[in-house]
Amino acid sequence: MSLYEDLVTQTQMNYSSYYGQYAAGQTPYQLSQKAALPYEEQIKNFAKQVKDAECIIIGGASGLSAAGGGDFYYEDNESYRKYFGKYAEKYGFNGAFDGMMHQYQTREEHWGYLATFLHTTQTAPVRQPYLDLDAILKGKEFHILTTNQDTQFMKLYDEKQVSEIQGDHRFFQCSRQCHDEIWDAVKPVEDMIKAMGDGTSIPKEMIPRCPQCGAEMFPWVRGYGNFLQGRKYDRQYEKISNYIEKHKTEKILFIELGVGRMTPMFIQEPFWNLTLTLPDARYIAVNDKYDFLPKQIEDKGIVIVNNIATVLEDVRKEAGKK
Ligand SMILES: [Zn+2]
Repeated sequence: MSLYEDLVTQTQMNYSSYYGQYAAGQTPYQLSQKAALPYEEQIKNFAKQVKDAECIIIGGASGLSAAGGGDFYYEDNESYRKYFGKYAEKYGFNGAFDGMMHQYQTREEHWGYLATFLHTTQTAPVRQPYLDLDAILKGKEFHILTTNQDTQFMKLYDEKQVSEIQGDHRFFQCSRQCHDEIWDAVKPVEDMIKAMGDGTSIPKEMIPRCPQCGAEMFPWVRGYGNFLQGRKYDRQYEKISNYIEKHKTEKILFIELGVGRMTPMFIQEPFWNLTLTLPDARYIAVNDKYDFLPKQIEDKGIVIVNNIATVLEDVRKEAGKK
């Protein structure tokens, strides 16, 4: 098992032991009691840390995409209506994931929704917080780790620079995982959207099937119980692990963006662990709700509790990066 996957696995065990605390929106770690710096100071500190770092590891989670307008997953709001309007009216779904879990009368309708879901993220422009982050990282040595499946980072960077550990909306896998292959989902989805027009179902013959066993394909993403953890998945963990191995003695800055309370095991707690153990590591977290800085790393890190889009915009300005 690679270094980073091992850290995630350890964290998962911890998570199970303290599930009650996590579910209540807390953490079992002892937190720092130090008063946070005023916001202006935090932004200056952020910009300086970036400048001083020899390399940077970004941990991009759901809050980052939500801050940029990718906020249609868990609620029926304006952006949900914009992309999923016909389904919202027909079914009254409370956000995009709600529709993904629905039992449709037909597979054609199921795939109509699935295609709409994938097409929305595949074709979305790169959102502002990602552009601001990109400007902040200009000229720096960095690697991206993300739990977001919406491919925003893939629109900006080479595959080598990004570890997508929860899958990617651009690919299909066999729903039965009969073998370790993944396929392009972009072209088939585009064709489905065209064929569907104003309707809510795709033609039966367009339902993509596994060439090996004939089962329906499925997006290559975690969250629905059948995520294919094969070669491509292992490769994601290798990329981040190799990066850490290569840079572990340098001035390495971990930047955590928008981790929620239900998934601390992929980015947040491994970042805490690495900040504590690597000699020259520093940590910055931006979160719109939670002010969690472990006492053990209170001298190596800061947490900025604010809107991620605002923070990244302000750091970009502070750093004077166009
Ligand atoms: Zn198959």
